[in-house]
Amino acid sequence: MSGAPTPAARPVTPDDLRFMDTALALAFAQLGQTAPNPAVGCVIVQGRRVIAAAATAAGGRPHAETQALDIAGPLARGASVYVTLEPCAHHGRTPPCAQALIAAQVGEVIIACGDPDPRVQGRGAELLREAGVQVADGVRAAEAQALNAGFFTRLATGRPLVAQDGRAALFDADLEIGPDESFQEALDRLGRAGITRVRVPPARATAR
Ligand SMILES: [Zn+2]
Repeated sequence: MSGAPTPAARPVTPDDLRFMDTALALAFAQLGQTAPNPAVGCVIVQGRRVIAAAATAAGGRPHAETQALDIAGPLARGASVYVTLEPCAHHGRTPPCAQALIAAQVGEVIIACGDPDPRVQGRGAELLREAGVQVADGVRAAEAQALNAGFFTRLATGRPLVAQDGRAALFDADLEIGPDESFQEALDRLGRAGITRVRVPPARATAR
C-alpha cells in the first residue's frame, strides 16, 4: 500500500521529539564508524522513561535496535521504540530488526525517516504494521536526512558524500586520489569499498 497516507496513531508529542533527539544524538556519535551501514540510534521508552538506548556498533553491526532490545529484555513488551531510520526488513547475517521488534511485542515504533535501501524501502514499516505494531514516521525527518546523508548518497549514486571538514571522526575516510585515477574514479572506488562519507581535510584544500 505504498503511497497511501497512513493515519497517525496519535499526535506527535514533545516527549516524542525529546526521545527522538536522544536517538539522533546516539547515531550522530557513531558517524564515521559504521560504514557501509548507516549509523542508527534507538531508544526504548516505557512509561515516559528510557529503559534502553543503543547505536549501531562500530563496523555496522549489531544494529541499534537489536542491542536496545537486548538491554530492555522483557520490558520491551508494549514499549515505545524510537529509531532514527526505518528498521531493516532483510535477512543479512542476522534476522531483520523489524522481526526482532515484532518478536519483542513492542507497542509502537516511531521512525525519523524511511530507509531507501531497495531491500527495505517501506518493507520494515509494513512488516511492523502487519504485525499490529503502531508505526509513526517522519518524526525529526530533516535531522535524520542530515544524519544519513552519506548512506543515502552512496545508495543513490554508488559514491560517498564528499565534504570539506576539519572533523575526521565524522567521516569513514579521507579522500586520497591515486596517481592513475581521476576524482570520479576515486569516488567510485571508495563507494565500492563501502565508504559513505569521505572527507577533504581543510588544510590540504588550502595549502600549496
Ligand atoms: Zn537492522
